[in-house]
Amino acid sequence: MVTGIFYHPSFSRRSYLTQGSRLQDFPQALEPLLHDERFVLMESPPISEDWILKVHSHELLEGVMRDTLCSTAWHSAGGVVLGAEKIALGEIRNAFAFIGAGGHHSGRDFFGGYCCFNDVVLAITVLRERYGLRRFAILDTDAHHGDGTRDLVRHDPDVLHVCLCYSSYESPDGTKVDVPVPGGLSLWQVFEGTQKDSSAPEADMDHRYYETARKAFYDRCVRFQPDLIFWYFGFDTHRGDYGDIGLTRKAYLLIAHMIKELAEKTCAGRLEVVLGGGSRSDIARHCIPPIIAVLGGVSL
Ligand SMILES: [Zn+2]
Ligand SMILES: [Zn+2]
Repeated sequence: MVTGIFYHPSFSRRSYLTQGSRLQDFPQALEPLLHDERFVLMESPPISEDWILKVHSHELLEGVMRDTLCSTAWHSAGGVVLGAEKIALGEIRNAFAFIGAGGHHSGRDFFGGYCCFNDVVLAITVLRERYGLRRFAILDTDAHHGDGTRDLVRHDPDVLHVCLCYSSYESPDGTKVDVPVPGGLSLWQVFEGTQKDSSAPEADMDHRYYETARKAFYDRCVRFQPDLIFWYFGFDTHRGDYGDIGLTRKAYLLIAHMIKELAEKTCAGRLEVVLGGGSRSDIARHCIPPIIAVLGGVSL
C-alpha cells in the first residue's frame, strides 16, 4: 500500500506564518517521490462546518472566519482528516499532511500561535464516528506545548497524548504526558516568534532529543495499543528556526524511523504525520521530503 501526501496550493501561496513562504518549493521539492508509484499526492479538500462544530465552539469558528491568517484553515484540517480516513479505509498505508494553518494550539474555544482548527482532534472525531476506530496515540514534537490538543483530549482515556515541550507532567492514568526537551527551553523561548542564538549548538543534541522522544513514547504506545498514531511534527525546533533547540534533520529522521516501526508493530502501520510549526523554506525543503520517503520505505 502507498503513502498518501496531502497538500493544497494555497499552503505555499498564503501560509499562516508571516514569512508566508515556508512551503514555496512544494510540491516540486517532493521529486522524485511524485513519480514513484509508492506515493500518491492528493489535494486537501476543505472541511465542513458540521465537523468543526463537533470539536469547536461557534465562537471559535466565528473567530477563525474573521482572522485572515486562518484563510487556509479549512483545507489544512480537511487534508489531515482525509488522510486519516484513507488510512482507515485501507486505501493508503500511512500519510503526510501539509498544512497552511496549524492545529495544536487550537482548543474547544480558543486558538492562536498560527493555529486555527485542531486538525488532529477533528480527524479523531471523524474516525470514531464514521469508521469505528477508537484509540489514538499522538506524539507532539513541535517546539511548543500542544495546549489546544491537550484541552480537547484531557478527559479522553482513549487518547495517549505525549508532548515534548518544556514541562514535566503525567496524568494519573498515564495517558497525558509532557516531557521536557534536553537542554530545556527557557521561559522566553516558550513563546512563538522568539529565537535563540544558535552559534554554539550542543553536540549530539539530535540523539539526545531522539532518545527523549523514544523513551517518552515508544513503550507507552506499545502498552496503549492505539488504532492509529499521529506524529505532530514541527520543524520549528531546527537550528535557526523560531523554536530552535539545536536540532538538525538527523533528529527528525530518527523519529520518523522509530514511529513508523512503532505503527507497524502496534496498529498495522496506520500512521499520519501532520505538519506543525517551522518557518524557513530551506529547512522545509531539506527535512520534509526524506521524512515522507521514510514513510514509504524509500531512502532519498
Ligand atoms: Zn511551535
Ligand atoms: Zn507539552
